[in-house]
Amino acid sequence: MSINPGFKKSPFKKYTIEECRDGIIQKSPAILSYLISKSESTLKEDEAFLLEVIKDLPVNNSTKVIAISGSPGVGKSTFINSIGQYYSKKGHSIAILPVDPSSSISKGSILGDKTRMEDIVNASNVYIKPMPSSNALGGVAEASQMAKHICVLAGFDYVFIESVGVGQSEYEAKHLCQMFILLLQPGGGDDLQGIKRGIMEMADLLIINKNDGSLQPSAQQAYDDHQRSLKLMLPNAYGWKTKVCKYSSIEQTGIMDVDAQINNYFDFMQSGGKLEQMEMDQNKRYFNSKFKDVILEKLELKEHYRNIVDEIKEKLNQEQWHAFEALDYLRKKL
Ligand code: GDP
Repeated sequence: MSINPGFKKSPFKKYTIEECRDGIIQKSPAILSYLISKSESTLKEDEAFLLEVIKDLPVNNSTKVIAISGSPGVGKSTFINSIGQYYSKKGHSIAILPVDPSSSISKGSILGDKTRMEDIVNASNVYIKPMPSSNALGGVAEASQMAKHICVLAGFDYVFIESVGVGQSEYEAKHLCQMFILLLQPGGGDDLQGIKRGIMEMADLLIINKNDGSLQPSAQQAYDDHQRSLKLMLPNAYGWKTKVCKYSSIEQTGIMDVDAQINNYFDFMQSGGKLEQMEMDQNKRYFNSKFKDVILEKLELKEHYRNIVDEIKEKLNQEQWHAFEALDYLRKKL
């Protein structure tokens, strides 16, 4: 089985800017993967190439960007396979960006994920590109931002970002997506699932997954408990109140409800410019998180500043200075 059967990877194949721009518009898996791989590179020339490719391409406003999060084993991959199949059969185009767990959990687990996505990998309107996990060195936030942006420019109807489900990556995924869905396991107990309260509060939709077989009574219990506690929760910054529903990927039940909740959410966000506001907020947030790096990078390239920092480090090495003094000296020098 292969992901994106139309895509034959050739390490030597290079595309021109024009080919890439056309490829994005045509949702060509080969070009999309070529560009997304480039976004994981730290080479300046790759960055410049990407920026040239995406420059002035029209942004599609109808793409729904949805993050699927939850603890390992809760059923994220199976859920994406199931809902992806549902949307693909309805004729929608779908991009799936799973954060590659192979480097953080175990080598080869991505194969497991592919297996769980087996029903959709061969659909012509579905594109899947695993992303590096947050544990990988460098540029992951940038790479996911760019990958998402490229899929939005390509005009997919749905972009699903599967977050690896541990700590920091949840926050990254939250600020990448328009809608954040958290899968929960019945009977697990939120503490057992390692789901922090903060993450629950970030969710726009909670899905009690595995609502089937012997798990059904505990799924109902979890659903009732969450319904009750959500009543006490305040709406988020955009005025949306978190919803909850039940689902089973195995029995394919609850899909209409999930689809309705997704539509409700986007109807709500599309009214009164909330979605635009959210995009602006995310854009600013991303800029704020990155601009210091750019300035720092430039400063470090300047010998004068590097010498000052080296001088300070030397004094710290000799235990002459406390860090407070060192920072004060640096501030004055700058
Ligand atoms: P992930 O680690 O969150 O991506 O979880 P997976 O999708 O890999 O699923 C973990 C396990 O849960 C697998 O053994 C699945 O077969 C099982 N699973 C997934 N969805 C369901 C469901 O709706 N019902 C039941 N009973 N099992 C499920």
